[in-house]
Amino acid sequence: VAIIESELVGGECSYYACIPSKGLLRPAQALAEARRVPGAAQAATGSLDVGAVLAMRDELIHGLSDSAQLPWLQRHGVELVRGRARLDGERRVRVDGDVLEARTAVVIATGSAPAVPPIPGLAEAKPWTNREATTSEHVPARLIVLGGGAVGCEMSQAYASLGSKVTLIEAEQRLLIQEEEFAGRQLEDAMAALGVEVRLGAQAEQVERSEGVVRVTLEDGGSVEGEELLVATGRHPRSKDLGLETVGLEPGRTIEVDDAYRVPGRSWLYAIGDVNGISALTHMGKYQAHVASQAILGRLSSSAPAPVASVVFTEPQVASVGKTLAAAVAAGLSNVRAYDVPISSTAGSRYYGRDAPGASRIVVDEDRGVIVGATFLGVDVAEWLQAATIAIVGEVSIEDLWQAVPAFPTRSEVWLRLLEAREAERRDPARAPGATNP
Ligand SMILES: Cc1cc2nc3c(=O)[nH]c(=O)nc-3n(C[C@H](O)[C@H](O)[C@H](O)COP(=O)(O)OP(=O)(O)OC[C@H]3O[C@@H](n4cnc5c(N)ncnc54)[C@H](O)[C@@H]3O)c2cc1C
Repeated sequence: VAIIESELVGGECSYYACIPSKGLLRPAQALAEARRVPGAAQAATGSLDVGAVLAMRDELIHGLSDSAQLPWLQRHGVELVRGRARLDGERRVRVDGDVLEARTAVVIATGSAPAVPPIPGLAEAKPWTNREATTSEHVPARLIVLGGGAVGCEMSQAYASLGSKVTLIEAEQRLLIQEEEFAGRQLEDAMAALGVEVRLGAQAEQVERSEGVVRVTLEDGGSVEGEELLVATGRHPRSKDLGLETVGLEPGRTIEVDDAYRVPGRSWLYAIGDVNGISALTHMGKYQAHVASQAILGRLSSSAPAPVASVVFTEPQVASVGKTLAAAVAAGLSNVRAYDVPISSTAGSRYYGRDAPGASRIVVDEDRGVIVGATFLGVDVAEWLQAATIAIVGEVSIEDLWQAVPAFPTRSEVWLRLLEAREAERRDPARAPGATNP
């Protein structure tokens, strides 16, 4: 196996995305956590040390050096070729002057780049993308964030906690439009509590920068000013300059693939990760790499697509897997119910301090008696997701879930509360507090 890399081994996630963004978010969350717990709160009297936060971020991204990743490649016998790769016909890859010929397969894993929308003046205003936002050595006094998806919400909270006055502009009527509605609404409240000004249903119409100040004019005539502007309005595939035309594919678009992540009609060509547009998440790219490698080795037994698990690492975190209620209905499931309980419904949650926000939902396909989706919103709920993922992938029946007894007093007892909410609805549909019938 040979890997061709034009920048840093490890990709966007390791240096400019997942890793540094979580590094910027975590210290403020740890401090907030301590402040919610009596006893610890009395000890947590200082404020965040911004220099130390940025230093930890730098440590996490190894000062933008990939030397720590190279021994891993060596241990696995993978040859590293530094340079820009382009396809040059079937099974041929050109790297600068040289041509590599693949005996078996070529896998495209070139990722995605930030999409900067064609708003007049935006590109000229030299906005931050995820790269500047995750590696900045300074904290702007005022930061404008365009986009209320995962990246926009995470970066808004990170910079607000570091001292920026943040304004978040989102065209939709709520944050995190892909998630259950309650998640976006509760996150909006948390943003407001942190001092982030959230402008929903707001369209940026024009951008100007002069004398160090960026001004965004909105469709309704209002405007917002800041020292920096972060564009977090989505990604586009890095497929423009890859020589796709040499194998009959159109450059610049997401690369279409089948269930084994193989390009239809080209048995030797695979596309995994952000570049195929299926799911712009690191773990889903890694999963696709596993499936594609099994296919290349002729060992693929099942390739039913895995449900997508995702975490927005804000405070509260939004952890979800599978389908939202709306997505389940849109997918044609005719007998689905959602069951909701607050996170604070368990004894374990009391140790997470006063006023810890939170909610949870399971979406049940009642025809099959199995969970098809789950969302947890709260402090430190990211690790809860795997239980729901296993229940969905294993199609564990609701009856069997009663046998998966959560320990007392853990917050995992939220599962018990969710099952009880379903029981209550079955006993008395009119009075069940936690059930939503679409
Ligand atoms: C701010 C931010 C936070 C995020 N946080 C999370 C998170 O917490 N969890 C999560 O799961 N996902 C997160 N994501 C998404 C995640 O970063 C991406 O899904 C992931 O990096 C995609 O991996 P990839 O391997 O497809 O592409 P990339 O990580 O982009 O890697 C592609 C590599 O290909 C190289 N390359 C490109 N073209 C060529 C060429 N022609 N020749 C040679 N090399 C080339 C690039 O230099 C790069 O190293 C986040 C994204 C952003 C922007």
